[in-house]
Formats: sequence, structure tokens, C-alpha cells
Amino acid sequence: MSGVVVLGATGSIGLQALDVCERLGLEVVGLASGRPSRQILELSTRFSTSAVAVSGGSGEERSELAAAIGQRAEFGADAVVAMAAKTGVTVVNGIVGAAGLRPSIAALEAGNRLGLANKESLVAAGPLVLDAARRGGGELIPVDSEHSALHQLLSGVDRSEVASLVITASGGPFLGKKRPDLEDVTPAQAMAHPTWTMGGRITVDSATLANKGLEVIEAHVLFGVDFDQIEVVIHPQSLVHSFVRLTDGALLAHVGHTDMRIPIQYALTYPERTNAGLDPFELAGRTLSFEEPDTDTFSALPLAFAAGRAGGAAPAVFNAADEVAVAAFVQGRLGFLGIAGVIERTLADLAGEPAASIDEVLETDRRARQLAASLVAGVC
Ligand code: MG
Repeated sequence: MSGVVVLGATGSIGLQALDVCERLGLEVVGLASGRPSRQILELSTRFSTSAVAVSGGSGEERSELAAAIGQRAEFGADAVVAMAAKTGVTVVNGIVGAAGLRPSIAALEAGNRLGLANKESLVAAGPLVLDAARRGGGELIPVDSEHSALHQLLSGVDRSEVASLVITASGGPFLGKKRPDLEDVTPAQAMAHPTWTMGGRITVDSATLANKGLEVIEAHVLFGVDFDQIEVVIHPQSLVHSFVRLTDGALLAHVGHTDMRIPIQYALTYPERTNAGLDPFELAGRTLSFEEPDTDTFSALPLAFAAGRAGGAAPAVFNAADEVAVAAFVQGRLGFLGIAGVIERTLADLAGEPAASIDEVLETDRRARQLAASLVAGVC
């Protein structure tokens, strides 16, 4: 491996990817972030990184960073895309949101390995991402824990013997609650995730099960499995990261620590494995439990299945509406149950939009955000 490029370097996945690189002694040849910050400057120093790309920030913030960092800083969304398209590198895409889409495509078109944590790439533009990999010869390895588990389980199995994929969900902080219990829950309550420590949106998405819905769509794209062959099971301990159900009735499980550095490392070292420096996972004393998801209360999950089955722009619309609704919830402008409500109404209007090119996907994303925002504001 000639080096690693970390996109979304100052986010939760990015920082953990950098920890893994440091521990494995991998060279970090590129760092990208959304905003100029002291943190990106410190990371570039810590990893002696030869290139830094920052997509946003004011002119003043950019000049300040450029002066501190020297020749190595590039600015604008195109600079991040160009960094993903460096040849012969492994790209970890930990960008949050639709901004991660073009870099994913660029990395795969350039023939790079892409460790993908950016859900939007697969949810909003799955077929386009797969096309890019076919065209450029790039290799897509999922970083999401459930998909990393499925990737590992499926690598030892003949696909004709796979009956279904079973994705586990913690159930989030509101597991067992009914709709009336959720009318007045606060963002702080939704952010108190029981098992995983993650970024803001994904934590709220775990509480609504929208995250699991996005993961169902991701699994469909990544593994080419029909939605009828994807199951979700609630598993509050988050120790089984997914199952593969085989045609003879056997279930393969991927079990282990809830630590994102493991799937990140797998994406970097696959097909080899190396010591992750963690204590052995103790089995004694563990209790594993499983239950059906409550799809009446957590209606974002069935909405995601419906969007996935509808295909076209519907998954992109689901994702965009969810992101806007979650932001409104976090800011206290929308109730918790309103998140799925906004997704449902946005999907009803825009699921039929075009999504055959990146430009169309991004335009659909923009329109879905606009509609979702107006639904939140109550002007529609
Ligand atoms: Mg996950």
C-alpha cells in the first residue's frame, strides 16, 4: 500500500482511521475536511501529510490555514475530489452527507481501494458508485460495522447458498417505547446511544431506526441482494454485527467488540488481518438477546425499505429528508416523531425525480432538502 487518504479527517470515522494508520505504521498521504480548523492543521503536522484539502470555509479562514500549512493546502470541493483521485492510494471516506458522493466516485474511477463510511454514496447513488468501480477497477470495502461483518461472512460462502442477510440494530435509546412515549423526547435523550459512540446525525438516526434503514439500502447495493432477502433484528448488546442466513438453515454470525477501528482496519488491510491491539473479546458472562423491530413506532425503517424497493431517486430523497429532519429535531424545531413524518411526506412528492447521473442525484438531493425544510417550517 502506497499510502492512505483520509476524507472527513476531523470527524469520528476520520479520527479513528488516523489512529489505525498510526498504529499500523501506514503513511497518511492526504487529509481532507469540510472546514479550515486548528485540528486539521494539527493532524497534518502529526502525520507529516503531504497534502491537505478543505472544501469549505471563508476566504479569511482559508488564508489563515494556507499560511500555517504552506504549499500543501488546497481549497474547494474539487480539491477533495482530486485528492480521492490520487493514483495508487487507499481512500477512507468518512465525510458526512452528500458531499461524500463525488469523492467516492473519483476514488473508484481512479482504481483505488475505497474504505467507505459515507452512507450517502451508496444510498443516494448506489448504481453510479458501482459503475465507477467497474469503469476504473476500484475496490469498495465497507467500513460500516454491519456491512464489514457481512463482507467478512460472505467472503467464505458461495452466494447461491445465501438465503438472507440479517442486519442487527441496537434499537437505540428508545427501544421498547411506543409512539405516545416519544412525543416529547429531547435531542439529549436521543443522543444517549447505549452501545456505540458516533457522530450527531447517526446517533439520532439510530434512535429512529432511520440509520438501519439506510444500512438496508447500503446492503442491497453492496451485496446485490433483494430487499426481500434483507432482515433487521434488534440486538441491544450490539455484539453480533450481522448474520448471514444460509439455505440449509445455518446462521453465520460476526461477533466482537463495538469498536469502529476494527472495521476500519479490515478495510485497510483486507484480505490480510493483523493484530488490532485490543484485548480478546470475552465470551463468558455475555448475554445476547434478539427481538423484532417495532415498525409501527419506528416507521423510518419500513419507509427505508419502501424507498429502497422503489429505487431511482427514492433512496436519495429518503436520505436528504432525514438529514434535514434530524437537524431540525436537534435544534428543537421538530418533534422526534416528526422526523419520520417529514421523510414520508418528502418521499410522497419527490420519489419519482430523476437520479441517473451524479448531477441529477445532487439536484434531487437539493430539492428534497428544500421540501423537507419547508415541511419542517410548516409552510407547505
Ligand atoms: Mg452501522
